[in-house]
Amino acid sequence: MSAASTPAVPSSFAELGLPPTLVAVLAAVGYEAPSPIQAATIPPLMEGRDVLGMAQTGTGKTAAFALPVLARVNLGLAAPQALVLTPTRELAIQVAEAFQRYAATLPGFRVLPIYGGQHYQPQLSGLRRGVHVVVGTPGRVRDHLTRGTLKLDQITTVVLDEADEMLKMGFADEVDFILQQAPKTRQVALFSATMPTAVRRIAQTHLRDPAEITIASKTRTAADVKQRYWLVSGAHKMEAVTRILEAEPFDAMIVFSRTKAMTTELAEKLQARGFSAAALNGDMPQNERERTVARLKDGSLDIIVATDVAARGLDVERISHVLNYDIPTDSESYIHRIGRTGRAGRSGEAIVFVAPRERGLLRVIERATRQPITEMRLPTLQDVYARREARFRDQVLEAVADDGHGNDPRPLLESIAADNNLSILDVAAALARLVRGPAASAEVDRAQASVTQASARGPAARERPRRERPDGESAGAAPVTAAAPRPDRAGKGTSPVPPGMVRYRVEVGYEHQLRPGQLVGAIANEADLDSQYIGRIDIFDDYTHIDLPEGMPPATSRILAKAWVCGRQLRLRPADAPAPAAPSPRAPRPPRAPGGSKPKSAGPRKS
Ligand code: AMP
Repeated sequence: MSAASTPAVPSSFAELGLPPTLVAVLAAVGYEAPSPIQAATIPPLMEGRDVLGMAQTGTGKTAAFALPVLARVNLGLAAPQALVLTPTRELAIQVAEAFQRYAATLPGFRVLPIYGGQHYQPQLSGLRRGVHVVVGTPGRVRDHLTRGTLKLDQITTVVLDEADEMLKMGFADEVDFILQQAPKTRQVALFSATMPTAVRRIAQTHLRDPAEITIASKTRTAADVKQRYWLVSGAHKMEAVTRILEAEPFDAMIVFSRTKAMTTELAEKLQARGFSAAALNGDMPQNERERTVARLKDGSLDIIVATDVAARGLDVERISHVLNYDIPTDSESYIHRIGRTGRAGRSGEAIVFVAPRERGLLRVIERATRQPITEMRLPTLQDVYARREARFRDQVLEAVADDGHGNDPRPLLESIAADNNLSILDVAAALARLVRGPAASAEVDRAQASVTQASARGPAARERPRRERPDGESAGAAPVTAAAPRPDRAGKGTSPVPPGMVRYRVEVGYEHQLRPGQLVGAIANEADLDSQYIGRIDIFDDYTHIDLPEGMPPATSRILAKAWVCGRQLRLRPADAPAPAAPSPRAPRPPRAPGGSKPKSAGPRKS
């Protein structure tokens, strides 16, 4: 086996020998440059060589094998020319979708996923119609071969994706069988995160003089950079960034995303939320990029959202934080990214968002940096408030230290207090409210705490007593938001809406036997929102106020408006919006599930 060297700096897609139509698609998809596995794998595959690649999910290996296949596919031949074997149906579907995306400029291109657990019929009709690429799980592919419904005589490339997983799942015989059926002239590309003996055996039996590709990571310690990861769950990444920016003390931050389009989108969203942010990407003219970096340096800009290429060599001492919105495809890029902080002897912080399926890549990065990356929890609203309070204290103390240059408001304040029979503290409190907006009430904080951590609910949370659901599930086990004491109909006793939240009204209340857990469950399910992001719930006699994160997509609010809880349609709308004309709040009940209300809406917890 001969080893292919890894290029130090990934070249452009055009330099890899891909046809211009595919290069154009990649530009449209937003890929700026090939990932290391792509830079190393595409040229030998384009030459028709076999490849043995060590690559994790998240490194860009799908494009590494899909692009050479698409570059050579004969659209005039309606027969499978490439076969990709994957260990699971999810991966088969995902790979087929990637093929379709990269084939956007190939009219009539067809890819078909075939996997166990699905009826044969759609697969048979797909195969009969004629496809160019088949992506399948080994068991089902073998079934089609033995039935004679899949023919491999026109196959020029076989890809084994996640080979170690495939063998771990006991597919060794199927893989051998399938490879024996393929024409002798076929090219084989084998990708595996690890190279155990079983994978080596497959490579030795079926690959011919493969280019062996391992993306060597220059291990480098980044001792001055504290590294943390957040396992992406429930909450959207955007919401997570906002929380981090609000709660984490930082000087300047660089946020990395994978695509140029995403840098602009993210920067705009951050600006809309009041942060001083700008994009930095390769599409921007050089002078604009230089201006952006200069603004970051002089402090007139705090956040840059960049791609790897645009941020190469960026040296700004102020950068205290690097936030990897998308985990990079390889550890080299990661090391480069986090090297943008901890400069000039300062310490820095790095945070990486990791989707559950990218955990393997995280481990690779951890090994390469030889530094632990510790899991972080997302800041809670309390953290956000604590940070705001700390900032406010600093501002007050700065103002106290400043003599005001002859501008002394004290006589005015004293006269306001004296004329209105107020203490100076009353006046100061009113001024504080004017300056910083509504403060987080302790109750809001408590409510949030009880949502985030069901077990932390203390007597102070003043919940309604637990009751068993008719189906025996304890609603009390749900992450129930603390209900305020039953407010009166005029809505006295309502609290300020916390920043970042919007108060909604739903048409179900105490008199319908509503418990907070039911509403949390319904909203978490219907809006696909992690229950920890549901804020305060105030239950009134025949309606309820609930605080939900800003920016709810219209489609979600339509779903929530139509959802049913306790036999009532929620008819969700912003609390300050006028009541819709019809239907009447006493709308007819929907068909009820044995549990008492619509099954999807009634569960206390997101399933
Ligand atoms: P994979 O390892 O194939 O599962 O790819 C992981 C992710 O990286 C996918 O979301 C791809 O869309 C993305 N990706 C692949 N290649 C590139 C590239 N050259 N630049 C940016 N993102 C990429």
